[in-house]
Amino acid sequence: MKTEENVQRSTLDPQHRTRNSVRETFGKFVVPSYARFDLVLERGEGSYVWDIDGGRYLDLAGGIAVCSLGHAHPEITKALTEQSRKLIHVSNLYYNELQGRLAKRIVDLIAPGRVFFCNSGAEANEGLFKLARKFGHDDGRFEIITTLDSFHGRTLAGIAATGQEKVKKGFEPLVAGFKHVRFNDLAAMRAAITRSTIAILIEPIQGESGITIATAEYLLGLRKLCDERNLLLLFDEVQAGHFRTGKFQSWQRILENRHVDFLPDGVAMAKSLGGGFPIGAFWVREKYAKLLSPGTHASTFGGTPLACAVALTILDVIERENLAENARRIGDSLMAELQALAKNYPKVLRAVRGFGLIIGLEFEPKLLAFAGEERSPATQVVNRLHKAGVLTVPAANSVVRLLPALNLSQRQAEEGLRAIEEVVEELNG
Ligand SMILES: *Cc1c(COP(=O)(O)O)cnc(C)c1O
Repeated sequence: MKTEENVQRSTLDPQHRTRNSVRETFGKFVVPSYARFDLVLERGEGSYVWDIDGGRYLDLAGGIAVCSLGHAHPEITKALTEQSRKLIHVSNLYYNELQGRLAKRIVDLIAPGRVFFCNSGAEANEGLFKLARKFGHDDGRFEIITTLDSFHGRTLAGIAATGQEKVKKGFEPLVAGFKHVRFNDLAAMRAAITRSTIAILIEPIQGESGITIATAEYLLGLRKLCDERNLLLLFDEVQAGHFRTGKFQSWQRILENRHVDFLPDGVAMAKSLGGGFPIGAFWVREKYAKLLSPGTHASTFGGTPLACAVALTILDVIERENLAENARRIGDSLMAELQALAKNYPKVLRAVRGFGLIIGLEFEPKLLAFAGEERSPATQVVNRLHKAGVLTVPAANSVVRLLPALNLSQRQAEEGLRAIEEVVEELNG
């Protein structure tokens, strides 16, 4: 008899769970908006994941900077199960203690201000855009300047804000009021400001376009410019934030030796904040905290007790286990090794950039080994690394990113390094 239970059992049968059948189901039923790698992942533990054929991979991709404590962390499981027995969701029509506590923790880590909770990075940026629009509304200012090669999410405003043609193509007309100038070019930013400008938005470390780091001078210069022209300085820390660089937010690492009082006016967060449970947030400086008054902005799922319980637990574990220091120590030493590798194989590996556990490896795109393939050099390297048992993330055309869990161990970093060395030697021919 074909009962509900039998149908379920048969789809769980090993013979029905081969890679091909999973792919076939995706081919029929899932919107094909992603170029997926040929891996079906089934379970994880710490910095390892297993595919459905039992193959094990060292995860240096971290779900693209999301799995801050790795996979199946027992304290995340505990927070999820215990909180789900109490209260998963209440509307923002009411107070819930955990949302207030998480907001306070974030404020304590940045500076006096307020926090709004949402569910993703794109939404966090969207909130900052609305904040900026509100700020400029009465004097007719609305324009936000961002940088070329930036990435700010896939909503309509997100793709308008993103400084890459490929995300906009086919979705015109774009949301008005965004323009882009070269990154790390203060003069270009100054020249782009008009009477309509209300804010500047940058990623202090550009992630999607290949780990490009803002200089300290650039950040300080932008702050000065925004003060002079009464503009909001907004940072998208969705990828580089949450202790990945060794500091809570990446601008704090970039400026750590400057000993200056520096603050942006708004900061977007998501990815590592929830360790895989969806949560986004933006912090806004106290001075501007009341711009979004009752009724002006909302999110049904924003800051549920469940999401906040997980995010609070992650902050507890990061603090207790000193994972900011771990990210800095393991990441910086891994980067030094990778830079040495680039020195030994300059024709293959052109540069290695990053801070802590956000690292970009820039490959030579014209390598003979990459020729004759449709896929980008970055994708080809990521595929080769899969064969060597390591997950990484492509960025732009020829950069490969490492965005592992903050609790990556020295031994795991060395394992990853060996796989990368193997692939670099192979590419050297
Ligand atoms: C991932 C990312 C986003 C978008 O986040 P989603 O959660 O996918 O909406 C925005 N900005 C940056 C810098 C990102 O890396």
